[in-house]
Amino acid sequence: MRAIVLVSGGLDSILAAKIIKDQGIDIVPLNFKTPFYHINPHSYNGSDLAEFTRNTLGEELRVEDIDKDFVELLLNPRYGFGAHMNPCIDCKILMLLKSKELMQEFNAKFIVTGEVLGQRPMSQYRQALKRIEEDAGLKGLLLRPLSAKNLIPTIPEVEGWIDRDKLFNISGRSRRLQIDLAKRLGIFGYPNASGGCLLTDRQFSERLKDLIRHREPSLRNIELLKVGRHFRLGEHTKLIVGRNEKENNYLEERAAAGDYLFVTEENVAGPVCLGVGDFSEEQIMLSGRIACRYYDLRENGAKVSCRLVFDKKSLSLSVTPLGEDDLAVLRL
Ligand code: SF4
Repeated sequence: MRAIVLVSGGLDSILAAKIIKDQGIDIVPLNFKTPFYHINPHSYNGSDLAEFTRNTLGEELRVEDIDKDFVELLLNPRYGFGAHMNPCIDCKILMLLKSKELMQEFNAKFIVTGEVLGQRPMSQYRQALKRIEEDAGLKGLLLRPLSAKNLIPTIPEVEGWIDRDKLFNISGRSRRLQIDLAKRLGIFGYPNASGGCLLTDRQFSERLKDLIRHREPSLRNIELLKVGRHFRLGEHTKLIVGRNEKENNYLEERAAAGDYLFVTEENVAGPVCLGVGDFSEEQIMLSGRIACRYYDLRENGAKVSCRLVFDKKSLSLSVTPLGEDDLAVLRL
């Protein structure tokens, strides 16, 4: 008997997988990659999660990329958003539909998730759990081991593939029971107790709304939202200012043809700034002034070197730092 287990990177799904595996079920841990996880893969869908899954469950993680479908979904989610830009109900339905498509390939008889009744306000109240199961076409075939005893028995329980007595009745927002259970099951060093989706982050969501408003939600632009300070300079003009060496390197590496890189003149320490979109002369000067605001200046009027990426020519700007009030108006 085999089941697909959706592994998100949070503790709950790892627990669910372990509970089912311990009942003698052959499991296929499946992770869906979306563009909304941190660059540092520590909390999700990077090699850390694959390694953690291997060490904890003794299984190889299968990763499915749903970037494009997810971005499309985000533009018009049927069940709307949670507190921020998180379309959790539609997201879960999408992942389960994709899992269902894979059931035949893996010869899996049911699907397992780490969902907990009442844990998340939008997608884990009783009605939402039912809606998700039905819309994914998985009636009776979606098992949630952590809350199973609070829910109607599923086919795997009724048929005796799974012993319902060994499942749990966890509900609510506290994670104390899961953390205790992890200790009992010998699960340590899990990446992130609550997962790490950036769509539940207020600041990231505001930046994303801005991208959608300006009809710019490409995968590259979404990736860039994860680093730096962001400034909207025009309908299709943005400046991103690195906040540390890692971000500076990241921005420099991601610069593509047509972008603008604003870098300091020698002898002045300061961030790398990446300009994306169409820049007028005025916006180039404005970008120079924003860049200059973050330079380590010994004197007031500083020269900023600005160059167009992949163009050997570089333009030297003489600018003074932009004032805080003007900066605040442009900041996302
Ligand atoms: S938090 Fe993010 S990954 Fe999790 S269900 Fe919501 S939208 Fe999907």
